[in-house]
Amino acid sequence: MSDRQKGLLPAIENLFPCAEHIFCVWHIHDKFKATYRGNLYKYMLYKCAHATTIPEFETAMDELKAFNPDAHLWFSNIHPKHWSKSHFSGRAVSDMLINNMCEVFNGKIVEGRDIPIISALEYIREYLMRRIVNVLEVIDKSEGLFTPTATTELQNIRTNAAHYTVQWNGGDLDQVSGRPGKQRVVDLVKRTCTCRRWELTGIPCEHVVTTIWNKALNGGRVGAVES
Ligand SMILES: [Zn+2]
Repeated sequence: MSDRQKGLLPAIENLFPCAEHIFCVWHIHDKFKATYRGNLYKYMLYKCAHATTIPEFETAMDELKAFNPDAHLWFSNIHPKHWSKSHFSGRAVSDMLINNMCEVFNGKIVEGRDIPIISALEYIREYLMRRIVNVLEVIDKSEGLFTPTATTELQNIRTNAAHYTVQWNGGDLDQVSGRPGKQRVVDLVKRTCTCRRWELTGIPCEHVVTTIWNKALNGGRVGAVES
């Protein structure tokens, strides 16, 4: 993930031709808002970025087009494969849309960047050592299997999962229905859901959670949601 800096675009394409290059949505919005200000534009942009399927993305883009065709046109030079989840392959298995992590890392190594390379690497190694210890301390204080943030996120997914009903198709698939227009198909064997969130982030979506519950209720050997 990068901030779409001009020099980086050809460099990444030449050096890492197979890499999936994501552009930080915060930086895209930063440029976008120079012309299109206001929370509504921001909301619409993030709605397009967070869409996990192409139809959802296209609907969100159509809303932007209806609101302001020029704002919609602004995105014609940035292919959605770089900034919308709907076009990500899922190979990265990540929920990130903004490069906070890189910015923090960049900020932490600022003093070590202009020194000779071996010393710079030593500086980074020591920073990473401290960071790993900090993370271990967070893990030690956590109850359950995950960090507090991940636990809260999974709890929210569980709460939403309670709104659905599941119909098994007799094979590997389950149809999950609930809110109108929100029907999905889950495949627990291939570990996919048609909302694509499971593939994109590695975190089971609400449809998957409700399917796992349903299987467990019917005597299926599905294990815990956390596994
Ligand atoms: Zn799903």
